[in-house]
Amino acid sequence: MLNDNVPAGSQILPFYLADGSSDVALIRGRIASVGPAASTIIERHAYPDLVGCLQAESLALAACLSSTLKFDGVFTLQAKGDGLVRTLFADITESGHLRGYCALDEDDSQLAAMRLAQPHDEAVHIVPLMGGGYIAFTVDDHATGGRYQGIVELDGPHLSDAAMRWFENSEQTDTMVLCAADKDASGWQASALMLQRIATEGGDAEAAAGAKATSDDAWHTAKTLLSSVTRGELLDPALTPEEIIFRLFNSMAPHVAPARVVTDQCRCDVQKVESMLSQLSVEDVNDLADADGTLLITCEFCKTERLLNKSDLPNWQS
Ligand SMILES: [Zn+2]
Repeated sequence: MLNDNVPAGSQILPFYLADGSSDVALIRGRIASVGPAASTIIERHAYPDLVGCLQAESLALAACLSSTLKFDGVFTLQAKGDGLVRTLFADITESGHLRGYCALDEDDSQLAAMRLAQPHDEAVHIVPLMGGGYIAFTVDDHATGGRYQGIVELDGPHLSDAAMRWFENSEQTDTMVLCAADKDASGWQASALMLQRIATEGGDAEAAAGAKATSDDAWHTAKTLLSSVTRGELLDPALTPEEIIFRLFNSMAPHVAPARVVTDQCRCDVQKVESMLSQLSVEDVNDLADADGTLLITCEFCKTERLLNKSDLPNWQS
């Protein structure tokens, strides 16, 4: 297969679907599989499993959505709620470097009840975990310096529903997205699969009507086929993303493109830490430092700890 050289659990695979009788692309799709990266990110933070599952879904979803956008920079999914999970964050660069973290409320006394209330056979229900709030999808394009953001309300039921609403609002393109994550003995498995209808070309009225009918049929069939995929299939480590696509959409002449590798990789470095500290007031830096002037700064994403002395900071005035 085309992507045998790319690790099955660490990739974003673009594909398109036709109507079976021709090779004309009618639907574009992406499947992201990010189990190993999700495992190391979640283990580093030691989240409760239910929160880990939401984080794993968010990582798969960010990877999947990012690959539909043209940018040279960072794609971010960030949700803010007033429930147990205050912040849910996942971002990915155009090179497939993935990061994530969650910030939890100190009061986790409802966690056991939330776990019981979650259905076992579907994606995490976000509202019981996150409460009310919003989800922002942001593209920071470093090539142009542009920033594009779409915000939708946090009303679930699943994270993927928020993504579909974002597409509905921003691109008015028919889009269907599914996420799945679960933990087994080998770690987390996490996948997201999306389909997007390709706008039909113009032409004369008769040709346009024919093209629209073909597109309508293909979209209906593709949605039905996607709805038939089970969590077991999406999360089966023995199936590659390519095998899932061919198994699921066999009747729609699937064509796959080269996959992009996804890795758990942070972008922090000492210069970024210094630059962050140099924006704080003298009082704030003094509050963070111990009596010797030493600061211990831990990266929220990768948990790397760095020891700095405030006298080493650029522009530091004692
Ligand atoms: Zn880091």
